[in-house]
Amino acid sequence: MTQTIEPLTDYIPKPGEYYEISPGILWIRMPLPFRLNHINLWLIEEVDGWVLIDSGINDDSTKAYWERIFNNVLKGKPITRLICTHAHPDHIGLGGWIQEKYGTKLLITREEWLFGRMVAAGNMKGEKSYYDYLLRIGCKQSELKDYEAHIATADQLYYDVPFQFERLRDGSEVKIAGKSWKVIVGLGHSQEHACLYCPELEVLIAGDQVLPKITPTIMVQAYEPQENPLLDFLESNKKLRGLPEFVVVLPSHNVPFTGLNVRLDQYIIHHMERLNVVLEACVKPLSGMEVSRFLFPQDLDLHGKFFAIGETMAHIKYLEYEGKLSCSSDRDGVERYIKA
Ligand SMILES: [Zn+2]
Repeated sequence: MTQTIEPLTDYIPKPGEYYEISPGILWIRMPLPFRLNHINLWLIEEVDGWVLIDSGINDDSTKAYWERIFNNVLKGKPITRLICTHAHPDHIGLGGWIQEKYGTKLLITREEWLFGRMVAAGNMKGEKSYYDYLLRIGCKQSELKDYEAHIATADQLYYDVPFQFERLRDGSEVKIAGKSWKVIVGLGHSQEHACLYCPELEVLIAGDQVLPKITPTIMVQAYEPQENPLLDFLESNKKLRGLPEFVVVLPSHNVPFTGLNVRLDQYIIHHMERLNVVLEACVKPLSGMEVSRFLFPQDLDLHGKFFAIGETMAHIKYLEYEGKLSCSSDRDGVERYIKA
């Protein structure tokens, strides 16, 4: 039987409310102040308290919805553990705030914890190497300030990332409400992203590693300009292939669905198409910024431009490592890529 991607339900819980999506798993949706305007979180009840997967972003509106859930849903029990799939601010932004209230333990992979601590501390601001990188990939001097704005405010999206954590490792198991969940680490979207799979329930908490409608953002970051995150993403997704055919996927954005392998296939096709667009554009030498206009011809806001250039460089680096693009630096210091 050919599998398709099927949403599990038409119902979407409103912020501050919940919906039991799978036995014992409460689906909560919180707002985000971006074009991607929501995130899904998951709550599982135990005898002494609740286990929460991901926290929502640090803003007043999310805190207000959380207060409603604290009062109306948790039956007076604390959130004892917060498991963060990764350290992007929509996933861990309120981790410190929830910990302050309940003494909640944080469970996260080590690289994600380090990344979250770094960004939340404001360490990305005013870094000269960041501007040098932008100039090298073809950003105009006059545009630098626009890109800076994105980094300069990143720390505000975090309340705090807790100082202590319990490490999630690839292949390790976490017991939640008497059931065993296996940690499956995925790369490419973030540093060391943890998915959680429960064989007994045949449920995968997928974080941002597998999303039904949009593709996870795969970006080269200025702090690691030689990385190859697209290869990391496609390679590490192979680990998800062995899960049962009709595993229920609980993604951080859009709605729960079945059809995991179809979605993984779509990612391969999607990125191969995007790689072809880049190769066809690079019949003459182009900078990263110039290539990004082929991949993203639409008008983008600042937020969109930041993601577009990161995604573009991810495709360029993939092709460069495959030997299909070669890079040369011009006298103006800008790196340009041409079909090898
Ligand atoms: Zn993310």
